[in-house]
Amino acid sequence: MKSTVVGSYPVELKEPSSPKDKLLKALGAHDIYKDAIRSSVIAQLDAGVDIISDGQVRGDMVSIFTKYIPGMKIEDGNTMIVSKIQRPIQEISVKDLKYAKKVMSDYYNGNIPEGKGVKGIITGPNTIVHSSRIQFFYKNREDAIIDLAHSLKYEVDAIAKKVKPVYIQIDEPFLSTGMVDMKTARESIDILRDGLDVPLGMHVCGILSDAFKDISKFNVDILDFEFAGNNVNLGVLEKNADLIADKKIGFGCVDSSVNTVDDVSDVDELVAKAIEIVGKDNLLLDPDCGLRRAPKDVAFEKLKLMNDIKDKYS
Ligand SMILES: [Zn+2]
Repeated sequence: MKSTVVGSYPVELKEPSSPKDKLLKALGAHDIYKDAIRSSVIAQLDAGVDIISDGQVRGDMVSIFTKYIPGMKIEDGNTMIVSKIQRPIQEISVKDLKYAKKVMSDYYNGNIPEGKGVKGIITGPNTIVHSSRIQFFYKNREDAIIDLAHSLKYEVDAIAKKVKPVYIQIDEPFLSTGMVDMKTARESIDILRDGLDVPLGMHVCGILSDAFKDISKFNVDILDFEFAGNNVNLGVLEKNADLIADKKIGFGCVDSSVNTVDDVSDVDELVAKAIEIVGKDNLLLDPDCGLRRAPKDVAFEKLKLMNDIKDKYS
């Protein structure tokens, strides 16, 4: 049994303190987010997380991608689709992931232990299009989703080739809302997966009662859901475990929607139940969703608690 995070971690932006960084700032070349990536990576490792993220420190999950994608435009923080969606103008997260991997490698004195590493995270085309407004060009969302999948595929392939992550996760929170056409959604994930030589995961938060059967058919290796913050999903998983027998389950076991540390015995009970349903080897423990909104110490304690439980059952 391994552990991971969904992605985001509390960000603390610090003014540069070293002479080198001060000089870079004076030249307009200091990257204030680099320190935030570093501290989020170290916090995850100190807490015992096996597969870490770069902390997704740079901003919200939609505009962080759409600002690099021709055909999409950000106005007052909202993304508009204004013309045909094309390939990104540059790599989006490769540099940050490489840096996160370097911090991790240094943490382990140059040798990242087997089974540990970083993961790449991409906001999925369905979620991006459904959170954007189509202004011009597309008559329906589905065509925009397919074009965006082809665009994001460049980023997926760049991460796979240049970062060599443990796996790549596609975030598709919208899939549980009932708003998304599941056939198009599946086709878009197939586009992202085409020829990929690292495992692919998909994170979907929210209540799964209506969407689970459709989601179980997606061509991914890992499905990641929340189980701590709602009391419906565990029953859905239990009833439909045979549908996902070929996949691993990312099992959200601490509640990211509350800013207090979870009760140990609650988490323990939840994980014991998950082991019973899908088996230890098919489980990847993580929080329900990103931890961006939690106070830093609470985020750390949540990860620590989760890893203590992991160790207990490993
Ligand atoms: Zn989520």
